[in-house]
Amino acid sequence: MDHLDYKSLLPEELAERVAAMGEKPFRAKQLFAWMHKKQAVSYDEMTNLPGAFRDRLKEEPLTVLECVRTQVSAIDGTRKYLFRLPDGHVVESVWMRYHHGNSVCISTQVGCRMGCAFCASTLDGWLRNLTPSEMLEQVYRIQRLTGERVSHVVLMGTGEPMDNYSHVVRFIRLVSHSQGNDISQRNITVSTCGLVPKIRQFADEGLVVTLALSLHAPNDEKRRGLMPVARRYTIRETVDACRYYYERTGRRLTFEYSLVAGENDSGDDAAELAGVLKGLNCHVNLIPVNPIKERTFRPSGQKNILRFKNKLEKCGINVTIRREMGRDIDGACGQLRKSYMEKEGVADRR
Ligand code: SAH
Repeated sequence: MDHLDYKSLLPEELAERVAAMGEKPFRAKQLFAWMHKKQAVSYDEMTNLPGAFRDRLKEEPLTVLECVRTQVSAIDGTRKYLFRLPDGHVVESVWMRYHHGNSVCISTQVGCRMGCAFCASTLDGWLRNLTPSEMLEQVYRIQRLTGERVSHVVLMGTGEPMDNYSHVVRFIRLVSHSQGNDISQRNITVSTCGLVPKIRQFADEGLVVTLALSLHAPNDEKRRGLMPVARRYTIRETVDACRYYYERTGRRLTFEYSLVAGENDSGDDAAELAGVLKGLNCHVNLIPVNPIKERTFRPSGQKNILRFKNKLEKCGINVTIRREMGRDIDGACGQLRKSYMEKEGVADRR
């Protein structure tokens, strides 16, 4: 296993690490609270820790992200943040205000290797996984920058969470920890393109988070045209894994469906989709595809979107059209990072 930084350790593990340094157990508790509750940005802030202990801690840098760019939507106040990681890569996160609280959408990887045809995050491939602390920091920094508490977290930014499995599970345990930031697991959503064995493993972790499955097509043939992962797993296997997730966790499933004009938005597509989801306790989120300049996909028009929605509803399926947030700022996942790197001429270090 890789060496994890202090901020990526669960309380029990931090206690062991601190004990090995010859310190009393309560020091580990204090350190955990400084990192995750007070969300300190330096060891020097941790004033109730002895100076000698702080000096030992400093041998390993405290993982902190630096905000290098912010975009604020004039329409709805949605904010996009670009953060620089300790090794110089950048990732983006989005903050949205809803009536039920503030939600942050975080990235889980630098780049992505899933190759979905309509997605900006995957265009330059995958560079590396984020550590648990780098995922936590996206939430912690945004809380500090906005001065407001975050109540909901969605793992829907750049990256495939199930392709960075152990770090994502650790992130969830840490961000929801009662001695730390304490976000309810019921307010956390993990979105996946459908790595079937990982969905099954995830179902057995004892977590109570929402699983969102990116389906985007009503049959395997159409799905293979949009998502390379569909060549590895059929819709049937994928939906079976989702059903297993529901059985184990009791959490209603979400299916995401991006509507692409002329590709997957006909009435027949809706009827076929209803057949696939029949009998599942689920909810469908329709999202008109967000066009990216590197691809020719166009979003469905309002008429087709409503036809699609009505058809699903007639078949007894819960469906919402996702409200587009921050339409005036680089909308789709990965677009802010990409435009930043193009403008700054930042070369990806592979
Ligand atoms: N890798 C994960 C999570 C990141 S993407 C996943 O695939 O679910 C979050 C959601 O946005 C996914 O449903 C993804 O398919 C969708 N998405 C990506 N690019 C999009 C675009 N240009 N327009 C609409 N939805 C998009």
